[in-house]
Amino acid sequence: ERTIQRIAAGEVVERPASVVKELIENSLDAGASRVAVSVEAGGTEGIRVRDDGVGIPADQLEAAVAEHATSKIADIEDLEAGVGTLGFRGEALYTVGAVSRLTVRSRPPDAEAGAEIAVEGGDVGAVRPAGCPVGTTVEVADLFYNTPARKKFLKRVTTEFDHVNTVVTGYALANPDVAVSLEHDGRETFATEGNGDLRSAVLSVYGREVAESMVEVDWEPSSAAETDEGRKGGDPAVKRVTGLVSHPETTRSARDYLATYVNDRYVTAGALREAVLEAYGGQLAPDRYPFAVLFVEVPPDEVDVNVHPRKLEVRFDREAGVRSAVESAVEAALLDHGL
Ligand code: ADP
Ligand code: MG
Repeated sequence: ERTIQRIAAGEVVERPASVVKELIENSLDAGASRVAVSVEAGGTEGIRVRDDGVGIPADQLEAAVAEHATSKIADIEDLEAGVGTLGFRGEALYTVGAVSRLTVRSRPPDAEAGAEIAVEGGDVGAVRPAGCPVGTTVEVADLFYNTPARKKFLKRVTTEFDHVNTVVTGYALANPDVAVSLEHDGRETFATEGNGDLRSAVLSVYGREVAESMVEVDWEPSSAAETDEGRKGGDPAVKRVTGLVSHPETTRSARDYLATYVNDRYVTAGALREAVLEAYGGQLAPDRYPFAVLFVEVPPDEVDVNVHPRKLEVRFDREAGVRSAVESAVEAALLDHGL
């Protein structure tokens, strides 16, 4: 039943940023080296994600927007192993199509021409030829136009755009080898080079002052320094912490600049944020927060990624161990640079 489909979709797709997250994931899964995100009115009116990935053959476009459409069997195994973060598999395009006007236009590198398919509030149209470059462009217009109750929950344009920006920034910093760009109402917010260098990506996203103030984090547990606390059967709770953190004086008045990744997945976790702030100790001015881009590697079976299907939140089996490892890692980096 169309109505039930819509209600379910409204539960999973919370806001424009959740759509953007799914579309970027798809582009990265498709091996894109460029992902260009452009939104109108914070994404409430329009969202477009364009990539240069493997594309979708014309005869598979219909399947791509259908329920349980996934072509990613390996990812389902990942999900069972506890490393997947998506709340819904093989359902993103289907779900978004149920609550918007969706167009998927694509051309694989070996195809002579492109093709497109449109979905309007769950009604799937015919596949038609379309002129387009190699790769895939997904356009989402009028999100929630047919679910007014869900639409009412959308916040102001600036708030919705902040969420979109946070998501795109998160993926841009996690994938410095991919050129990621973001545009809002025709104006460029940032564009990374995709040259593989994390500091260069930070420069594109946060600017020169921040990029130059960042110090490198690269920490592994040393049995000598570790206590039994946070250990299970002798395995450390954290295998490695890498990334960049800012000088204690390069701060902002919001916490939004702490980008954390667990096993290369962009996540949020109170424990990680608190550990970073703890590491700065008394060095931060009141209500000031540092910049951090931190990659934390933990045993995959010790992270719970399914705390909430549509959020990026994770929980750790050995939270205290993770917390103390991240704090040590950041502290060591700051100390190394005499900070
Ligand atoms: P999932 O990503 O979980 O497989 P989606 O609904 O997000 O499910 O996508 C359905 C399918 O459409 C994917 O499995 C993939 O085959 C195809 N697809 C979606 N987006 C892209 C893209 N940007 N490039 C190539 N293929 C894509
Ligand atoms: Mg997907």
